[in-house]
Amino acid sequence: MSRKQIIFCDFDGTITVNDNIVAIMKHFQPEGWDALVEQVISKTISIREGVGRMFALLPTSRKQEVVNYAIHNVVIRDGFNELLAYCEEQAIEFYVTSGGIDFFIYPVLAAFPIPTDHIYCNSSNFDGSHIEILWPHACDEHCHNDCGMCKTTIIRRYSPEEYERIMIGDSITDFEGAKLVETVFARSHLIGLCDELALNYYPFEDFHTIIQRLKEMRA
Ligand SMILES: [Mg+2]
Ligand SMILES: [Zn+2]
Repeated sequence: MSRKQIIFCDFDGTITVNDNIVAIMKHFQPEGWDALVEQVISKTISIREGVGRMFALLPTSRKQEVVNYAIHNVVIRDGFNELLAYCEEQAIEFYVTSGGIDFFIYPVLAAFPIPTDHIYCNSSNFDGSHIEILWPHACDEHCHNDCGMCKTTIIRRYSPEEYERIMIGDSITDFEGAKLVETVFARSHLIGLCDELALNYYPFEDFHTIIQRLKEMRA
């Protein structure tokens, strides 16, 4: 029996054209956000620490503005609906694994036929003076990367004996997962990592390319 295909798809910069966390920060410009981004990229601080501290710079008094900006700023990458339809038709399991935040991910994905329990992301709390990010899917004992939303923790639940694990992503939140899966679809910074580590990957710019490649993989 052949292995079942399962897709773990990133949200920011993958399903959406832009990275929404960076877009929010660029728009609202809270003091010190850019230094935090630099520290995450240079791995001086973890993704969890960086994202948590960035949102903690934004006062909850601006909640509605932040939420509205994030949701309305989103542009979905070409072919996403078609990819979901292809997965449905071929019984390929499709999960969204995102280092982004619930307040923009759930409203944006509500337009698509993805069950809520197939969406993994971070949560947010607007009860205090500043936005607090919560981490319901933190790293398990096998991951010491302090991811925040730990993609490898989720991917490890699907054994490579039973599943052909496919990751779609673009950037730093996908690095650890990419090392683990059988096949990677990469764009942007993730291409560099895949090249460097000689991972099995295919570059993509839209989801039509991915559907084409998935069809070839089945042939
Ligand atoms: Mg991304
Ligand atoms: Zn982790």
